[in-house]
Amino acid sequence: MPDLYAVIGNPIHHSKSPIIHMEFARQTHQDIQYNAILAPLEGFAATVSAFQQKGGKGLNVTLPFKQEAYTLSIRLTDRANAAQAVNTLKFDQNHPILGDNTDGAGLIRDIEVNQEIPIAGKSILLMGAGGAARGVILPLLERKPRLLAIANRTQTKAQLLQAQFSSHGQIVSGHFQDFSGESFDIIINATSASLQDKLPPLPTGLFKETTLAYDMMYSRNLTPFLIFAQQQGAHHLADGIGMLVEQAAESFYVWRGIRPETRKIIEMLKNNR
Ligand code: NDP
Repeated sequence: MPDLYAVIGNPIHHSKSPIIHMEFARQTHQDIQYNAILAPLEGFAATVSAFQQKGGKGLNVTLPFKQEAYTLSIRLTDRANAAQAVNTLKFDQNHPILGDNTDGAGLIRDIEVNQEIPIAGKSILLMGAGGAARGVILPLLERKPRLLAIANRTQTKAQLLQAQFSSHGQIVSGHFQDFSGESFDIIINATSASLQDKLPPLPTGLFKETTLAYDMMYSRNLTPFLIFAQQQGAHHLADGIGMLVEQAAESFYVWRGIRPETRKIIEMLKNNR
């Protein structure tokens, strides 16, 4: 009998996680089954419990349940604790529910390994102060950037994140317009504006030719943020496909103790958008 894993969310039909994990399993000769589970909005804990009763070994958690998975976890890794959100649950007899967050590790690996940009010494503008932004701040700071600026539409949320993480590195925060006239080495869109086909209210002049413009969202076409970055002169554009595959690889490692190869599946997903 294969070991059971799944991704759980609502909606879930669009998820690429089953394709990614079954490819990892094929490549590393692991006997697993990985499905997608639609949980009712009010029934996350019951759905997780039923999966566990069936002998399930682990879950990936996606929108809108990452906070609920955090409160459901009996033990948390440091990175899940800092993110206050969980995207990976691991079940075994000794440790009933371990909550982890692999989103930040996925982003770092995509930037440093796939995009070949070391983060140490760089200036970074992180846009957004929701779950995705919170999950990547500590992993980014651990790579020792020169500066991390957090810009958010609702400024108080960015200020709270600055206060929470300021002991880990050099952080400033503000509204988008506060960064007018400054340029950055890496600009990451962790807002959900691209999901609404919108551009965050960015001032001009943030991008240099060498700036990496990174949108956590992925889609068939360039997002409004990536189009803006290109118009502003940035040559290096990336969307969130690499992060998606890398966070999955990190979850696979947490569950199976084996790190799968990611480049081929990233290329395959890019070519089949
Ligand atoms: P949240 O709902 O938690 O946060 C949304 C954030 O976007 C808030 O900071 C909000 O600002 C801001 N925002 C929303 N609309 C606009 C707008 N029109 N202009 C400016 N700011 C706006 O979402 P998440 O943090 O969970 O997700 C953010 C994005 O990251 C999504 O696109 C998601 O798909 C992507 N993501 C990708 C992953 C990957 O593996 N590639 C993994 C995780 C997330 P305010 O506080 O003012 O409301």
